[in-house]
Amino acid sequence: MGILVQKFGGTSLSTPQARDHVIRHVKRELGHGYSLVIVVSAMGRKGEPYATDTLLDWVSQNGDALPQRERDLLLCCGEIISATTLCSLLEKEGVPSTVLTGAQAGFLTDNSYGNARILDVRPERILRELRAQKVVIVTGFQGQTEDGDSTTLGRGGSDTSATALGAALRAEMVDIYTDVNGILTADPRIVEDAKPLSYVSYTEICNMAYQGAKVIHPRAVEIAMQAQIPVRVRSTFSENEGTLVTHPEGFQESQPGIVDRFVTGIAYVSNITQISVDCPDGNGSGVQLQIFKSMADSGISVDFINVTPTSAVYTVFDNHSEQAIAVLQEIGLRPKSLSGCVKVSVIGGGINGVPGIMARVVEALSDHNIQILQSADSNTTIWVLVKKEDMVQSLRALHSKFELHR
Ligand code: ADP
Ligand code: MG
Repeated sequence: MGILVQKFGGTSLSTPQARDHVIRHVKRELGHGYSLVIVVSAMGRKGEPYATDTLLDWVSQNGDALPQRERDLLLCCGEIISATTLCSLLEKEGVPSTVLTGAQAGFLTDNSYGNARILDVRPERILRELRAQKVVIVTGFQGQTEDGDSTTLGRGGSDTSATALGAALRAEMVDIYTDVNGILTADPRIVEDAKPLSYVSYTEICNMAYQGAKVIHPRAVEIAMQAQIPVRVRSTFSENEGTLVTHPEGFQESQPGIVDRFVTGIAYVSNITQISVDCPDGNGSGVQLQIFKSMADSGISVDFINVTPTSAVYTVFDNHSEQAIAVLQEIGLRPKSLSGCVKVSVIGGGINGVPGIMARVVEALSDHNIQILQSADSNTTIWVLVKKEDMVQSLRALHSKFELHR
């Protein structure tokens, strides 16, 4: 048997009951004969004692002046606590295990503290421990620079640690354990009748993840896709096998038949500000160049760009909106802005060129008197921008219009 990577997220480790489930999944796979590498996140969510957000709050309480390098050093503690907790519990059950930090596990990163990029994974130490019949527990979300400084990989970083290890170890599979039954057609916290998908392609989930489906980080999917390692997203709290993420041929090998989906799911990104600027007739393109150059020079990333001869409309994240407005005013423009918007996406490989899709989107929203502030589309996605108060209703209306609960 080969190597299996199991990743357990924050809520999968936060209570004694949840940790019992984790132990069960570990023992079951050991029973199947796998060599196990387990990646853990920090335990719990905001407010719980050892969660990443709690550590960040601690930095704020102390004046928020901690340099980035030292902040990363502190953040590494969350995963060390959960990894050593799991080690205690496995040893108590008679399962020999060992904990490796990101650095000890071989994660070499650049020095972009808080959002470091993985340069290489050198898994020799892990392989040594596996040969010694140990279960290897790796602290997720972290690595080390060439100089030996601790770094963290940014939000969702443990997913990335897991698939990067899967790739470096040529694992048979990476199992991402979380608090829902796999990848669903929408976030089940908002759309109650969202349906679990038994299979999605790397491309489908990558698109959904980039459009805000937080169930797995898009970087993690990109790495798995490059290395062609299958991923399963599944619940810690059940035996259900969840969603298999692979390339279409890989899926057909395990389950012959054709998956021809029109729409895969609905996702959203919130905290968006829409900015509109009128451009004088005749010199529209000059002003537009000024606008987008000034945003780029200020390091503000822009999205959802609609340009006409007399206007430029685009979005930025709410936390950049004040700066964006100030920059535009400095160059003599009078922008209008609307903050607290939400970008809702309908994602599916099958929507390309199908007539009437946009009509269905508009109909779903107008049935509920929801105003579309802006829209755009690509081969695989239709985006609409709506006000925050319309978000929940928009997601539910689109989910039902495309019959995703079926
Ligand atoms: P973990 O701590 O295990 O990494 P996350 O909170 O990062 O967990 O991801 C799981 C959450 O992702 C779920 O609780 C769910 O609310 C949310 N989510 C958003 N979109 C989807 C989707 N399409 N399918 C499943 N879960 C989703
Ligand atoms: Mg996560």
